Amino acid sequence: MKIKNMKKALALLFVGSGLVFHWSCSDVFDQPSGLVENTTAAEEISEGQDLTAFLNGNGVLMQAFYWDVEPRFDWWDLIADKTDEWAAAGIDRIWLPPVSKGQSGGFSMGYDPSDYYDLGEYFQHGTTETRFGSREELDNLISKAHENNIEVIADIVMGHNSGGGPEFNPYRGKDTFTLFNEMNGNASGMFNRSFEDYHPNSIHNNDEEALFFEEQDLCHLQDNVQNWLWKFDNSVAKYYKNTVGFDGWRFDYVKSFSPEFVAAWVDEVGGWSVGEFFDGNANLVRDWVSSAEINAFDFPCLFQMRDAFERNDLTILQNGDMLWKTNPNESVTFVANHDTDREPVIAEEYKLYAYAYILTHPGYPTIFYLDYENEEFKEKLNQLILINRTIASGEVEVLYADGDEYIAARKGNADNPGLVLYINRNGLELNREVTTHWSNEDLHDYIGGITTSLSTDANGVVSLKAPANGYAVWSVK
Ligand code: ZN
Ligand code: ZN
Ligand code: ZN
Ligand code: ZN
Repeated sequence: MKIKNMKKALALLFVGSGLVFHWSCSDVFDQPSGLVENTTAAEEISEGQDLTAFLNGNGVLMQAFYWDVEPRFDWWDLIADKTDEWAAAGIDRIWLPPVSKGQSGGFSMGYDPSDYYDLGEYFQHGTTETRFGSREELDNLISKAHENNIEVIADIVMGHNSGGGPEFNPYRGKDTFTLFNEMNGNASGMFNRSFEDYHPNSIHNNDEEALFFEEQDLCHLQDNVQNWLWKFDNSVAKYYKNTVGFDGWRFDYVKSFSPEFVAAWVDEVGGWSVGEFFDGNANLVRDWVSSAEINAFDFPCLFQMRDAFERNDLTILQNGDMLWKTNPNESVTFVANHDTDREPVIAEEYKLYAYAYILTHPGYPTIFYLDYENEEFKEKLNQLILINRTIASGEVEVLYADGDEYIAARKGNADNPGLVLYINRNGLELNREVTTHWSNEDLHDYIGGITTSLSTDANGVVSLKAPANGYAVWSVK
């Protein structure tokens, strides 16, 4: 025990606080090589410092929905009520599902867009409100978010449409549901469309992948489409930004059209933007990012995390190719979303390891609504978000990795101590000697799984600990 700790312990005893002593004995199991025996006797419970002294400007994106949210017609009100709490936790953007009326009306999750200007205000497809509520309720949600300094991100589905009326389509020699006007799935009368706006047409037969809705695959080379999606003063992009109040964009399934159209949209209206380039190949995602000139979801990181946890090989976290490793400012990291929720990529039992990883590493992290609202996760996620916004600063250095352990530093900077994340998939508490960027410092586990403090020597060497099947985030006391 160090003198400083002794003094503090005595002071605590003097005021009569109930001290809880932790008796550590980690030398009883078969230790992997490299483990250092821990002979610490009774010690006081470690106390960390107030991390808010180190606010680093980071924020976190909340994906504010899951697939088939319930109750229908009340979603905007439900999440409007959460914006105070989310802002306090450090959420600086929320991503909403597509807000416009879809073909499946009151059941639609918005990914079958029919009328881009019906945000719950025209009776069509069997309902006036969207699944999420009325236009007025959407406006209220956006105001509440803005009062809390939360930006609101619109989900833009511009690859395909649904819910038009039938018309004879000479390019297909039969009727197709490509007629969108006041009488046919487009009550707003804005951005009326017909077969020329879809593939095939007089320009070409097709564009990139059209896996879904093949007959209603929008052609972004058509003037009518470009004008109404982003060029006109009342285009979808400008109406959403200037009239509805959206701050940025999440572009759905961008593999189905050229990245130049995303770039054109963002050139026209600006705003923080991210694309769903659904691919685990980091080189392909990097190529897309450089053409679209916006951020991308870090699918490579998602799939590498899955492999690392499923194969019990955490060296994949160190060696796997991920977008953030080359493009930290363009990577939007995540653990789950509305698609993976239906078919999990990262199993529930691994999610907190994955959140610990993305919330301590570079990239802009996303929290999935259902994970945050999971009462077993919420406080743990709040602490990781606080760590992300404060000591998750500076260069990354992996200090150690093997099958069940991963230890990585964020080296901080002159005003910020940084951190060391220690993930331990072992069923036993582990110790491992590493060389940190801190010399002669007392360390605290800001997750709280290890309750005693540790100290580095003059060379930064310390035998760090992590709890069984858990993780620790060490930083200076
Ligand atoms: Zn309502
Ligand atoms: Zn086209
Ligand atoms: Zn297409
Ligand atoms: Zn190990």
